[in-house]
Amino acid sequence: AVPVAIVSGVSQAAKTGVLVKGGRALEGLTRVTGLVIDKTGTLTHGQAQLVEILPVSDMPSDRLLQLAASLDQASKHVIAHALVAEARERRLDLLPPTEVVEIAGEGLEGVVDGRHISVGGVRYVSQRVPRIAQMVSENRWPAGAVVVAVSVDGQGAGFLILADPLRMESARVVDSLRRLGIARIVLATGDRREVAQAVTVGLHLDEVHAELTPDQKIAMVQDEKRYGPVMMIGDGVNDAPALAAADVGVAMGARGATASAEAADVVLLVDQLDRLPAAILIARRSRRIAV
Ligand code: ADP
Ligand code: MG
Repeated sequence: AVPVAIVSGVSQAAKTGVLVKGGRALEGLTRVTGLVIDKTGTLTHGQAQLVEILPVSDMPSDRLLQLAASLDQASKHVIAHALVAEARERRLDLLPPTEVVEIAGEGLEGVVDGRHISVGGVRYVSQRVPRIAQMVSENRWPAGAVVVAVSVDGQGAGFLILADPLRMESARVVDSLRRLGIARIVLATGDRREVAQAVTVGLHLDEVHAELTPDQKIAMVQDEKRYGPVMMIGDGVNDAPALAAADVGVAMGARGATASAEAADVVLLVDQLDRLPAAILIARRSRRIAV
């Protein structure tokens, strides 16, 4: 494409709330035939609502939420934000966490009010407190619910159950992308398989991959390249390496992590998934003008 078309394509995209980082990114958008899409904060809106607190010890519910949310103040994860917001709404005292160590996208541990706390996905907390895995398998969870596990001083303390529904526009966006020739659309999530399956019912995705580590998300993106050029869209810190591995990495930039925005070729500056097909259309039009 000639420079003038690139400039016009990039500025057209900017007007609709899409930051395209230069000609190579614009060109890439015209070529992709596959999409790897993240769940939490991308297909779902990420403003999760706490629906249940389930202590497994004699700890009161409010104390469980207070300890978990206090530690989650140190995290940029969308679920962490939701828990902190919920604790504030309930006027719980948020205490300052110390000695915090986080594995982005998995969970974190640290000291709150003199107690050693860990908060995160089931796999993360189970690695520290094996009993948690058993407790999860013994319970029936509402379909599609995000389950956050909490341990206190090396003991399973309980679970926080959140509802994080699909964005209103997700099904429509998947259909639009199909019409634009994105032949393969696959989900890649760090969350549990049951959640991924329940949330994607009716979306007509080609494959659903769950319980992935950030490294496994990279491997998935690379594997998808055998079908053609791949676009990956995500929002979390843990998605940054997968975005970098894709032919075109797209970050949900409005509320998402800065690390993913930096690693991306394209950033959606408004928190709307329908900017993705819009960006592909604009890129194609600018190429047509160029030839
Ligand atoms: P996705 O890949 O779909 O965006 P993530 O891998 O980011 O999902 O998150 C998966 C799960 O990990 C969440 O549903 C949540 O249970 C848990 N999790 C990760 N980090 C945190 C945190 N800081 N606080 C609470 N839960 C967390
Ligand atoms: Mg995410």
